[in-house]
Amino acid sequence: MAERRSPRSQVAALRDRPSADVLIVGGGINGIATFRELSLQGVDVALVERGDFVSGASSASSHMVHGGIRYLENGEFRLVREAVQERNRLTRNAPHYVKPLRTTIPIFSTFSGVLTAPFRLLVTHGRGKPRERGALLIKVGLVLYDIFSRGGGRIPRHRFHGRERSLRQLPRLTPGIKYTATYFDASMHSPERLALDVLSDGAAAGRERARAANYVAAVGSREGGVRLRDETTGEEFDFGARVVVNASGPWTDLTNEALGKPTSYMGGTKGSHIVLDHPELLEATGGREIFFEHSDGRIVLIYPLKERVLVGTTDIDADPREPSVCTDDEVQYFFDLIGHVFPSIRVDRSQIVYTFSGIRPLPRHDDTVPGFVSRDYRIEHGWIGRVRTLSLVGGKWTTFRALGEHMADEALALLGAKRVASTRTTPIGGGAGFPTDRASRRIWIAKHGRGHDPELVSLLLDRYGTRADEVLAALPRTPAEAPGLPRYFVEELAYLASHEDVVHLDDLLLRRTSLAFIGGLTRGGLAAAAEAIAPVLGWSAARRAKELERAEEILLREHRVTLGGPGIAPLG
Ligand SMILES: Cc1cc2nc3c(=O)[nH]c(=O)nc-3n(C[C@H](O)[C@H](O)[C@H](O)COP(=O)(O)OP(=O)(O)OC[C@H]3O[C@@H](n4cnc5c(N)ncnc54)[C@H](O)[C@@H]3O)c2cc1C
Repeated sequence: MAERRSPRSQVAALRDRPSADVLIVGGGINGIATFRELSLQGVDVALVERGDFVSGASSASSHMVHGGIRYLENGEFRLVREAVQERNRLTRNAPHYVKPLRTTIPIFSTFSGVLTAPFRLLVTHGRGKPRERGALLIKVGLVLYDIFSRGGGRIPRHRFHGRERSLRQLPRLTPGIKYTATYFDASMHSPERLALDVLSDGAAAGRERARAANYVAAVGSREGGVRLRDETTGEEFDFGARVVVNASGPWTDLTNEALGKPTSYMGGTKGSHIVLDHPELLEATGGREIFFEHSDGRIVLIYPLKERVLVGTTDIDADPREPSVCTDDEVQYFFDLIGHVFPSIRVDRSQIVYTFSGIRPLPRHDDTVPGFVSRDYRIEHGWIGRVRTLSLVGGKWTTFRALGEHMADEALALLGAKRVASTRTTPIGGGAGFPTDRASRRIWIAKHGRGHDPELVSLLLDRYGTRADEVLAALPRTPAEAPGLPRYFVEELAYLASHEDVVHLDDLLLRRTSLAFIGGLTRGGLAAAAEAIAPVLGWSAARRAKELERAEEILLREHRVTLGGPGIAPLG
């Protein structure tokens, strides 16, 4: 894990030596992947993120690490092949966070879509209304997917089942189905933590040379570089670079505009999710992702995660200047789709514990239906004065390593430098030496437990991978559970605050832990979290009160969380 740092030491490091060969703007997964990649090549690299790390599109995903079977329909074979390869690599390089996930598609017809799909692919390319996909089309897609997955090792092939057998396996599924198809993709249970691991590996590889700071925005350009602003103090300073990588996701055009070189590459679409605390629905999923087509042709999912059920998502054209929040219409859409596949299960707003929403960084798509816009990425070259720029357009979570590799290669070419290391088989963070079977898990727990209760060691192993070792070292023999924050410990929260660039209380609740995601937060819980981290961050009583107010406001406004109450808050 990252070394212990005094608060804002990374900003001081940028100001003390205000230049680097490459400056990356944007600390989502793609900026972070590029940072690690360049740092491993020995490049002098810096990264700035205007909010917290991974607080943009990267914190709004469906948590899928997938080839994107649906993209076959759009003819995106390159992307699907790359995504499947990256999925397989991630199950090996980051087994602590990325796990194979059994996925079942309920199918309602045999032929539908077979004729329209090639037509859409060859002629209309996504214009017009999507049609329901029938069994035959899904079969063709899954065969192709199996072919791409070959060599995946840990990923079994797909299976088709008729109605009776499907209902035996998933008895709460609607009797209206004709078949189910079951195949394997993967999911990441803690995307934000995975990203922080990639970041911390990049920083460790670069030692003093690689610097990454959150709450620092790129706000303008100067001869030979970029104007940066520390968002916690408002102070501005100039930073020189030979290459600027614009990895600001859905805000790529806005960043280019701020840097004085407007572009119109982007056309993001908004997607929302709800998280339900609903044991009956959880059980009905049978531990699988239920991935299917809703009546409007959109592909949606219902899936178990952290003992909750994640339901998503929508795909609506959006303006990145506007905040992205899950609306009542979207909630109703999610309820309808749950009713479509599990008609005997009742859901209501009191079971929603968390919502989240974000904008996909998609390319500009004019009249293409949002669901059919290319999910592939490209890199655009430009200049600001003498400085070369590389703007990322697109880029999924799943393909972050491959994208970081491509982006780094483009930057290396501009610098006239050579690649010296590959990340294809490099373990990520707490994925290094992570025990993947029961026997090796037992051995790990016995060896690294430091006298702690094996159950606690197991919990932290799931939470941090093998980096649990470092967290355990910071914990007393019997750590104190933070009041109102079940299964989180005071010293654990303090450790995260002092080692992982926590600036605000909401960074801890939303991105260093799953506390907000799993729901059940109360004012008392928030106060306990603030109390746990205040000493390491040097917070006064007044700062603590401000942080509590800010966290409560963000939870309410962006995630519709009502502290201590059931269900979601009305839209403000
Ligand atoms: C609803 C939804 C569901 C998705 N589901 C999946 C999925 O299941 N699987 C999958 O593989 N992908 C999924 N994706 C796609 C994936 O999440 C994104 O494509 C990916 O996270 C983009 O990462 P990024 O780093 O390019 O952008 P971002 O994560 O948005 O990062 C860009 C960062 O740049 C920062 N920034 C902006 N302007 C500035 C500035 N001027 N100065 C400094 N910083 C700045 C922003 O604050 C932001 O943090 C989903 C996306 C959405 C929205």
